[in-house]
Amino acid sequence: MNKPGDRIDISVAHPARRYNYWLGGKDNFQADRDSGDAIAAAFPTIRTTALENRRFLQRAVGHLAREAGIRQFLDIGTGIPTADNTHEVAQAIAPESRVVYVDNDPIVLAHARALLTSSAEGATAYLDADLRDPERILAHPDLRRTIDLSRPVGLMLVAILHFVPDSDDPGGLVGRLLDALPAGSYLAASHATADHLPPEVAAEAKAAGRGGGPHGLIALRSRAEVARFFAGLELAEPGLTSVAEWRAEAEPRPRPSAAEVSMYGAVARKP
Ligand code: SAH
Repeated sequence: MNKPGDRIDISVAHPARRYNYWLGGKDNFQADRDSGDAIAAAFPTIRTTALENRRFLQRAVGHLAREAGIRQFLDIGTGIPTADNTHEVAQAIAPESRVVYVDNDPIVLAHARALLTSSAEGATAYLDADLRDPERILAHPDLRRTIDLSRPVGLMLVAILHFVPDSDDPGGLVGRLLDALPAGSYLAASHATADHLPPEVAAEAKAAGRGGGPHGLIALRSRAEVARFFAGLELAEPGLTSVAEWRAEAEPRPRPSAAEVSMYGAVARKP
């Protein structure tokens, strides 16, 4: 098997490393910083977006572990580990929590050890796999060893679906994952949008995001398009909102505006 290092291409920007750059991390390269800066030139609050998205992920996991009683998580599009990863947030509330992480970027695989620091009572696993192949994820022996698909699962699709173009049928992928999970499971997702931006700003940010990387253009989707990913599910309060407003009562005031963040998020239960 190839080592992850053999597959890491530092000559083109990758979303995981660019996001790490915006968050102030060190696991990024010149191409990632150039692409990140180009997006920031068009959309100056992108670092706020990254930070608020990360805070949303942590509050969503906290809500699922505390209020919804979820003890198993499938976190697809994990990103490079940083402070307060999904298993750390969940296991601080319920040490027996079990988390399966999935990402298709070899840089995340290279850092996977930091995700495998489970509490003794719980468990974590990391799969080097692609959201666009849900059946491979669901059948993977490491997933099956770690979580029980007959019991509720919190499916985390946080800041990943905008990397899946309509031609890859992201709604169908979400549906296939949810079909494999029992009633009482949850979907937590966030998604970039241009709803609050002047069209020229959105177009410029989108063009800057291409950067020759492997992921093509970011798909900025409208509120109605993002809502469709949650079709058939029961939205938890306060519904589909800016990630900065989602259960953010304890966050510092003032909250950044919906335009500054330009990212929707929600958590919903499978009935
Ligand atoms: N969920 C984390 C990280 C978001 S960055 C957070 O919100 O903080 C988006 C991540 O999705 C990157 O790590 C990128 O490598 C991953 N990703 C993008 N497309 C993917 C795909 N098709 N399959 C698996 N992972 C993907």
